[in-house]
Amino acid sequence: MIVVMKPGAAPEDIEHVVELVNEFGLKDHVIYGTDRTVIACIGDKRAVEKDAIENAPMVEKVVPILAPYKMASLEVRKEKTQIPIGPEAFPVGGTRVGIIAGPCAVESSEQIMQTARAVKAAGAIGFRGGAFKPRTSPYAFQGMGREGLELLAAARDETGLAIVTEVIGTEQVALCDEFADVLQIGARNMQHYPLLEAVGKAAKPVLLKRGMSASLDEFLLAAEYIINAGNPNVILCERGIRTFETYVRNTLPLAIIPALRERTHLPVVIDPSHGTGHAGMVPAMALAAVAAGADGIILECHPDPERAASDGAQSITPTRFEQLMARLKRVAQAVDRDV
Ligand code: PEP
Ligand code: MN
Repeated sequence: MIVVMKPGAAPEDIEHVVELVNEFGLKDHVIYGTDRTVIACIGDKRAVEKDAIENAPMVEKVVPILAPYKMASLEVRKEKTQIPIGPEAFPVGGTRVGIIAGPCAVESSEQIMQTARAVKAAGAIGFRGGAFKPRTSPYAFQGMGREGLELLAAARDETGLAIVTEVIGTEQVALCDEFADVLQIGARNMQHYPLLEAVGKAAKPVLLKRGMSASLDEFLLAAEYIINAGNPNVILCERGIRTFETYVRNTLPLAIIPALRERTHLPVVIDPSHGTGHAGMVPAMALAAVAAGADGIILECHPDPERAASDGAQSITPTRFEQLMARLKRVAQAVDRDV
C-alpha cells in the first residue's frame, strides 16, 4: 500500500508514519516527489491498522498498490525517474536521450581507446564493453575479466564517458561496482534472483536487460527485486525477444516503450544491436526507438567488426555511428527531445 502525505508534510510527520508502518511489520520506501511525499509500504498488510495510519498527522490517504511490482510501478511515483550516470552525471530519463556505444567485448587497449574517443567525439554519453561475457558456447571467448575492467576505467578517465559493463555472477559484483558506472544484467540473467539482489546492494545504477522469453510483468518484477534490495536506480533495457522469425537474431518490440510508460517511472533504453543481429538494421531501429520515446540507446560499435571477438555482425563502425548520431539528433528534436 501507499501512504500519500499532504503537500508540506514535515520530516517529522514522515518519520512518524515510517515508525508506524515499521511497527506493523512493513518495510518502508520513502519517495520524495516535487510536490508531495509518498511512503510505499511493502509486506504483509493483513496486520495493518489502516485507520491508525490514515489518522496520523499530515497523511492524506492510504491506497493499495494494485500492480504486482510495487516500487517500479507508476502507482508509487508519477514522475519519471532520472538516473545520473558516470563522471558527468548524465541524467538517463531526462529530456536528452542518452546514447551508449561500444564493442560487445573488451579485446585490447587499442580497440577500447580508439572506439571510446570516436564515440565520445560523435556525442555519446556512455561507453559499453563486456569484460565478462556470457557466451552460448563454453569454447567461445569469455572476456578479459579484471584487465578488461581496467581498460574500460582508463577510457572513462580520458573521455568522461559513463562505463556500462555486464556482471554475470554474484562474485563479480563488488569488482564491477568498483570499476564501472553502470552494472549491466544480461538477458540470460534477468531471472537470476541472487544476482539481482546482489546488484540491488551495489552502489552503481543497474541496466537490466529483458530476458529473451520474459513477459513484461516478469521484466518489471525483476526490476522490483533490485529496488527491493536497496538500489532504486534501475534502467530498463529492451534487447529483443525470441520469436519464430529467422531474418533477425531477435525481434525488437518497440511497443514495449509506450507499454512500459503506462506502468513504470523507470527509464527505458533500447538495444538495436542484439535486437536485430544485423549492423545494417541498427540505424533504422535506433531512429525508430527514439521516435517512439526511448530514453536511451545502447548499441555495439567496433572499429573492425569483421575481426570482432564477438557480435561483429551486429556492430556498426565509428563512421556509421557518427552518421547515425546526426540523424538521431533530428529525430529526437522532432519528438521534443535532444541527443
Ligand atoms: C551484450 O550486451 O553484449 C549481451 C550479451 O547482451 P544480452 O544480454 O542482451 O544478450
Ligand atoms: Mn553483444
